[in-house]
Amino acid sequence: MAEASENRMVDIARDVDLGNSAHKFSYSFKLLNLRMTEPWTFRKKFSTGCESGPSSWSCEMVFHKVEDNGKVSFPVTIKRTDSGSNGLDVVVNPQIRDDFGRNLSERWVLQGGSILGGDAITRILEADFSNTEEGFCLILEFQVQIFIFVSSCHSPSTV
Ligand SMILES: [Zn+2]
Repeated sequence: MAEASENRMVDIARDVDLGNSAHKFSYSFKLLNLRMTEPWTFRKKFSTGCESGPSSWSCEMVFHKVEDNGKVSFPVTIKRTDSGSNGLDVVVNPQIRDDFGRNLSERWVLQGGSILGGDAITRILEADFSNTEEGFCLILEFQVQIFIFVSSCHSPSTV
């Protein structure tokens, strides 16, 4: 039931780049603000498949409808779901743009160091989407990109 409504609202594209110094994952999708009658949760699980120190993760971000006053908060949680005892670094960088292409999330970063298996980090990203130029808030659609970087599991000299 939840799956069906999620699929109507968003089409999530995933991109994985296994670089030399970090494992990079990115997800992009559009979210129709006006159709949100209840919070919608972005929820993804992924694994690095690293040859030196594999790790598995889950990421959740809860999107609320932006009301007319423009204020909203989006809780983000990143959790390491394997049981590894090697400390890893992780960065979650959500980029949200409005209908006009403006970046509404320039300073939003969730960052953790020496993350062990089972550890989780949560941060509430707060935003004010009120349109200061025109004096009103009208968000029809979010363009969301979520970038996740996992590092320190291999080639430490290049990190
Ligand atoms: Zn690695």
